[in-house]
Amino acid sequence: MQLLTVRHVTTYRYRHPVSFGEHRLMVRPRDSYDQRLLEANLHIIPEPSELRWVHDVFGNCVAIARFSGTACELRFDSTIRLDHSRSLTVAHGMTVARLRQQMTKIRALNARAKRFQLLMGAEVDILSDGAMDYPNDVLAGLDFVVGSIHSGFTQGEAAITRRVVTAMRNPYVTLIAHPTGRLMGQREPYPVDLEAVYRTAKETGTALEINAYPKRLDLCDTAARRANGLGVMLAISTDTHSVDQLEQMAIGLGVARRAWIEPKHLLNCRSRAMLLQWIARKRASAGRRG
Ligand SMILES: [Zn+2]
Repeated sequence: MQLLTVRHVTTYRYRHPVSFGEHRLMVRPRDSYDQRLLEANLHIIPEPSELRWVHDVFGNCVAIARFSGTACELRFDSTIRLDHSRSLTVAHGMTVARLRQQMTKIRALNARAKRFQLLMGAEVDILSDGAMDYPNDVLAGLDFVVGSIHSGFTQGEAAITRRVVTAMRNPYVTLIAHPTGRLMGQREPYPVDLEAVYRTAKETGTALEINAYPKRLDLCDTAARRANGLGVMLAISTDTHSVDQLEQMAIGLGVARRAWIEPKHLLNCRSRAMLLQWIARKRASAGRRG
């Protein structure tokens, strides 16, 4: 549970008194599964002659203020208090308790299976300060951990780079997913110093992803080529959200080929034993570094 208070003040000042048109404000977020609105206050000066609340098509609360008379200043002052429940937002509601249940099930399956073993991994958010969204004792129970940035894209290059580098220094982070965050046609890459990312990846034994989701292709071919040239381990993954998307592997393979990546440079091409050995080496060396 995380209690957040957000205050937002906007003041417009004018040299001479003016009359105001209708103002629409979306300052009161909707309740949802991961957040509860505890309190919301909106003070407007001058007092609007009419204040209405409506819902937009997404269910957000929108205030519509109308004014009579004139003034030299218009001020909106909004404060909200939220209970933003972290445990519910992890991996779309994958709480630590549910993750542990899954681990128990997989262990039981592995104990019975003769011809194969299941590995267990999770894609875990890199938080705004570079910490991971699960505590280390939880990460330690996973076979591999994919760290990724899904929020806070506007932080600026230094902050985002620090975030990724900090995550890579976590001994349990195996791979950084979609390292630039681009979504083609939708979102530019966030600003990140990829050279610093490559260096830290090499130094810490963290792999970087060639994400094969058609809108991502991230790392792209030239970036993958550069990372590979610096000795960084890569992995192609499909970012699959449904079974048919597994076919995207072919697209990732195309990116890897354009980057002249060979099987020995890809975690995908390792045997289970060699993959686990590679992961164990990072965990052990990070332990030695303390
Ligand atoms: Zn992701």
